[in-house]
Amino acid sequence: MSHEEPTRDARTSPEPASGSAPRTIPAESIPLARLDQDALRVISRLQRQGFEAYLVGGCVRDLLVGRMPKDFDVATDAHPRQIKRFFRNARIIGRRFRLAHITYGNRIVETATFRREPDLSSPDEPSVEAGLDEAGEGTPDDLLITQDNVFGTAEQDARRRDFTINALFLDPTRGVILDYVGGLGDLEAGILRTIGDPLVRMAEDPVRILRAVKFATRLSFRIEEHTWEAMVALAPQLARAAPPRVIEEVLRLLRSGTALGAMRMLRACGALRVILPEVDAYLGDRDDAAAQERADSFWRLLEALDSDVHAGFSPTTPVCLALLYLRIIEREAEIAASGEDPPDVVATAAKILEPVAQAARVARRDFSRALRIIDRQRRFTQPTSRRFRPLLFVLGEEFPESLDLFRLRSAARGQGWDLYEGWRARREMALQAKPEEIDAERRAARKRPRRRRRRGGGAEGSGPAEIPSTPP
Ligand code: ATP
Ligand code: MG
Repeated sequence: MSHEEPTRDARTSPEPASGSAPRTIPAESIPLARLDQDALRVISRLQRQGFEAYLVGGCVRDLLVGRMPKDFDVATDAHPRQIKRFFRNARIIGRRFRLAHITYGNRIVETATFRREPDLSSPDEPSVEAGLDEAGEGTPDDLLITQDNVFGTAEQDARRRDFTINALFLDPTRGVILDYVGGLGDLEAGILRTIGDPLVRMAEDPVRILRAVKFATRLSFRIEEHTWEAMVALAPQLARAAPPRVIEEVLRLLRSGTALGAMRMLRACGALRVILPEVDAYLGDRDDAAAQERADSFWRLLEALDSDVHAGFSPTTPVCLALLYLRIIEREAEIAASGEDPPDVVATAAKILEPVAQAARVARRDFSRALRIIDRQRRFTQPTSRRFRPLLFVLGEEFPESLDLFRLRSAARGQGWDLYEGWRARREMALQAKPEEIDAERRAARKRPRRRRRRGGGAEGSGPAEIPSTPP
């Protein structure tokens, strides 16, 4: 990166005025070999037809900080129909955001036409429903953007993006980076800052609060003061964001390898209270000693998760859900348990998770799997019984994910490793079992007379085993 300009003061809003020429620097620090060759082909073809075309967004940011980009997006002033004309392998997708997908083999180069921020003050704006949330409610001066599909210039396209570091253009043909919004300086200084007034930008799309947390923790960047203040002020607005987008970002944070820092930051800015109220309440207040203990063990669980993610583990959606809610559910079930009856974990899990999953449109399959993973946890530690069929248990469909969660819990508690290893070995052995052996187990499980079913035991998938065994 060039060091030609001094680092800007994080307190001021030093964004270049709109209409001025972009700051342009040579892209010499980016090795051409790291660029996606298909994206380069798309750009070069568009430029030869007389259009502007750049690599844009996350890939330019990642290349400049030395990370491998996840994907290479192209932005151009060619309209989708024009793109389609020049590329036989292009397909127009999306109703809200019309984009071209240009396919090379099984790879896709996402090519978007420059868009501009919709003009909220204009009643004639064709594609903006200012002031209407998902339910069609809201006040006319609401800023929530519900559509965003008005074509614009490269500069307008940069300015409608969320953070300065996400709005850089790379022209691989000229070998230059174009910066309309001060993103280069912020990248150099390690600062995450919204483009424009953070209060306006976060109100337009409160999910940007979660994106800020994601980028700041992932890149170890400091959040600029006004951006942070806006996050705190507007965190309650996350209640207006579409739940599926919110849960998607939460899942990304959990899989990021920086879940601990991210969840702490979400709590600090007040977003956790809005998006995961049960988790926030479970973590309690600072002056409540019992809650502190609960919070510490939750943070340790996230620490264990991060460490496994760094080693290559990618938690599934059911594991993520189970991880977030497991202790909340177990505690609630224990409190609700009366006298001799064991805590009804499955029923409590369903009661707590169902509304969350429904609002966020979590697939039914993921939801019920999360319930089973939570229920299976007691199997790993409780004493054995004649009626438990360990072979069927370890061959159960949800066993690997249940064991993933048990491993994370063991790591967080610093105990249970012997149990974990025992169950893992048992699974390995069971995978070698002969089909006749498994059939015999199934028949035996079916034959056994059923005693009184445990309340809520309907989610059982591994036969009528009521009491688990200890592992070998
Ligand atoms: P990642 O590496 O996680 O994919 P990214 O920066 O590529 O990070 P994407 O969600 O893939 O993020 O989005 C691509 C680009 O689109 C971003 O870099 C940003 O410029 C723009 N963008 C995405 N979401 C928003 C948003 N909610 N508001 C404004 N701009 C956005
Ligand atoms: Mg991306």
